[in-house]
Amino acid sequence: MRLSTFRLIAATVALFASGAALSQDVPVKGGVLAPPPFSIIHAGTLLAVPGTKPVSKATIAVEKGNVKVIKDGYVDAASLGLPPDTPVIDLTDKFVMPGFIDLHVHLSSGAERGRDLSLREPDNYFTVVAYRSATQELMAGFTTVRDLGSVGYTIFGLRDAIRDGIVTGPRILASGDPISPTDGHADNHNLREELLTAIIRRGVCDGPDECQKVVREAIRRGADVIKVMATGGTLDESDGGTGQQFTDAELESIADTAHSLGRKVTAHAHAKAGIDGCIRANFDSIEHGMWADEETLKTMKAKGIWLVPTAATITYVGDTPEKIRNGPLKDLPPVSMEKVLKLGTQPRKLVKMAHQIGVGIALGTDAPLVPHGQNAAEMVEYVNAGMTPMEALMTGTVNAAQAGGIKVAGKLEPGLSADVVAMSKSPLQDIHAVMDVGFVMTHGMVVKSFGGRAK
Ligand SMILES: [Zn+2]
Repeated sequence: MRLSTFRLIAATVALFASGAALSQDVPVKGGVLAPPPFSIIHAGTLLAVPGTKPVSKATIAVEKGNVKVIKDGYVDAASLGLPPDTPVIDLTDKFVMPGFIDLHVHLSSGAERGRDLSLREPDNYFTVVAYRSATQELMAGFTTVRDLGSVGYTIFGLRDAIRDGIVTGPRILASGDPISPTDGHADNHNLREELLTAIIRRGVCDGPDECQKVVREAIRRGADVIKVMATGGTLDESDGGTGQQFTDAELESIADTAHSLGRKVTAHAHAKAGIDGCIRANFDSIEHGMWADEETLKTMKAKGIWLVPTAATITYVGDTPEKIRNGPLKDLPPVSMEKVLKLGTQPRKLVKMAHQIGVGIALGTDAPLVPHGQNAAEMVEYVNAGMTPMEALMTGTVNAAQAGGIKVAGKLEPGLSADVVAMSKSPLQDIHAVMDVGFVMTHGMVVKSFGGRAK
């Protein structure tokens, strides 16, 4: 599709979706976004590195999208050696911290128009959906997201367009199509044989050799991370349950191949046996991890394997059988509904147990199972499960950066990306403040400024 057409559609969709002023706040030069080369933030309270003590009255100097220096007190442009016309962003009555990171989203999912859309709409449709989702998440303070499965190639184009300054959006790391066994969580189910043959089923493999090849192909296509469907899932239409589906030999082949090409490897895994298989294969993280028991969690802690719980989904999907049957998933086929009902409040119990044992926890929501833009609800859920507000803030910043191998974000330090959010209230006093982010700067560009246009 021609770029100009895409930008028009994308901008229109985004404006309808968020109601907020967007990329028009950032000057455009030569067809790409051109933010001011320098800016200064005066922060009332600054939590530069979650896990350390916040300070009151601090200055962040930003140069070409990165943090240049952080100083105590309110320092002016001249004292920082910056040009006199450097814009000063007044956040002196706000709580300021690094932008949030969500390690598990599906940006091209969440279109209002029902199931099986990918059989009827071209890939560009899903790029536009993904742009809308990305905008909603950015406006909620998520300046980095990891997409663990979007339609076809859609996500790579959006990732690169944001990186190149064509449109504003969160930094995206993407897996592309997840790696799945035949009839596994990411394969197609209950379709006629002729359709199954006609549809390109990227990432579907059986046996260590085939799995090695699909991992290499995924990386050739542009995958930043390898996502593996190690067990069945609740929402697929397979009646094979949520047990281990890839064999140990297949999991080892996938993890070794990913690591040999410098990629993290993460597993969608529900059943204990499947999680244990991924642990033996040295995966970097486990998504969901629903039926992990004490023994499994202790091994994860010992091996430094991260848990990405996707726990806030129960708030939206429902945490009682009645709520689930009448909630957003009410039209699920019976075979999937049965699996969702089995989950109940397990995610909350899992976070509690993992936190008590001391497993590293990194934020992931599985949005749109938590609506795009409400990703911060995950931190609220973690506090409900026993974390302190500071621990919850760490899951969505420093922990997520470490778990995802993201070196430029997760904290504010000289040389790292100027991804900054601000709230009117302190989330350390009430974690619900994270649901009301009023200011967002992404790589030095102000895209949201307490309801008003960026100054
Ligand atoms: Zn997912």
